[in-house]
Amino acid sequence: MIDTQEAKEFFEQWRGWSVEVLEAWGIPTNTDNRRSWNRGNPVGEMKHFTAGTGLIGTCRWGNSESNDKCSFPIVVGDRVLDGIKPMPDLVSKYMCVTAVMLSDLDRGHWHGNWTNGITVGVENRNAGPLCKKGDKFFWWAREFDVEKMGKKPVEIDGRWYEPYTAEQLVSNIWLTRLLVAAYREEEHPFDPRWIIPHSAVAWGKTDTGRAFPMNLVRGAGSTSYGPGDPSGIDPWELPWLKQYQAAPDIALGALEEQEEQAFVDDMLARDINYRDEDGEDEPELDDNMATLIEGGKWSTHLPKVLLGLHELGYYVTHSPSTDYTEEAKTAVWMFQKCAGKERCGNPDKIPGPKTRRALLKRLKMFQLED
Ligand SMILES: [Zn+2]
Repeated sequence: MIDTQEAKEFFEQWRGWSVEVLEAWGIPTNTDNRRSWNRGNPVGEMKHFTAGTGLIGTCRWGNSESNDKCSFPIVVGDRVLDGIKPMPDLVSKYMCVTAVMLSDLDRGHWHGNWTNGITVGVENRNAGPLCKKGDKFFWWAREFDVEKMGKKPVEIDGRWYEPYTAEQLVSNIWLTRLLVAAYREEEHPFDPRWIIPHSAVAWGKTDTGRAFPMNLVRGAGSTSYGPGDPSGIDPWELPWLKQYQAAPDIALGALEEQEEQAFVDDMLARDINYRDEDGEDEPELDDNMATLIEGGKWSTHLPKVLLGLHELGYYVTHSPSTDYTEEAKTAVWMFQKCAGKERCGNPDKIPGPKTRRALLKRLKMFQLED
C-alpha cells in the first residue's frame, strides 16, 4: 500500500517535471478550463483514449487557449519518448512511460460530461478502433503506420484496435493506486464505483474500448476483484499482463511526433463540448423496490444485467448474483444516466425492461452480444 505522503509527493514532483517539459514543448503549462470538485476532491477516475497517435499533440490540445470546452489533467503515453528530460526518481518509480500532468488536481476538469466534478480524467495515448483496408490500418482519415508505431493492431470480435502496451497499463495501475493513496484520508476517499471508462457515462463514446482491460486495471489499482486482492501485487507480476507485452520481434520505436498542429486543429474543429451537464446525486432506492428486485420478478434478470454491466467496464462484483448490492445499484444507475431518458426513462436503479433493452443495445455496440 502506498503511503499518503508519498503519493502527495509523487504528484507534486510529477507536476513540477511536467511544467518543465510543457515549457520545453512550447505548450501552456496550465488551463483555465477547470471547475470545482463536487465533494471537495476527486473520488474517481475516468479512463479515456486520445483517439490519436501523438502524445505531444494531445497535451497541446488539452491546454490550448482556444480549447475552452474540454480539459484533462493527465495524459499517459504508451512508451518513453526520446529526448525528454528524465523524470525524477519518485515519478519514474511508478510511471514507466512518458506521462504528463497538464494541471494539478486542486480542481476538476471538463472531460466526461456529468462526472466532471467527480472523476480525474486520464487520457491514454491510443488511437482506439482502427479501420482495416487491405494491409493498412486507419484511424479517422489517417494511416496508422504499423512500422512507425512498432505495434500490431489487435482484432477483437471482428474489429481492429490499437493495443495498449504493458508499460501503459502498469502506469495506469500505479496511477490508480497513487490516487487512492493521495485521497485515502479525505472525507470522501476514492470509490472504485467511480473508476470507469468514458463509455460508461456517455452513450456516444467508446473509449477506452475493448482493447483496454478496464476491470483488471481497476482491480489491480484499487480494490478486491474476485478471489484474492491483486491491489498489493507488483503490477508486473500480474498473470494477465503478459498478453499485453510486445512480442520479442516488435520494438517500440522512437516515435517521431508529427503533424501536431494538424491534430490540434482537428480536435478544435470537432468542437468537443463536455461542459453541458453537471453531476447529480444518486437517488435512494425505495426499500420495497429493492426487495422486489432481489426476491421478485426482476431477480431472474439481475445476474445477466450485472454481467453485462461488468463487461462494459462498470464496477460490479466478479460473480454477479441476485444480490442487488450498493455497487450494483450504482452501476445500473450510471448506465441509465449514460443511456439517457429517451432510452431508460428517469434513472431509478430499477433494471426493468427499458433498461435491459438499452443494455442489450449497448452490448451489441461493443460486440459483446450477438
Ligand atoms: Zn473520452
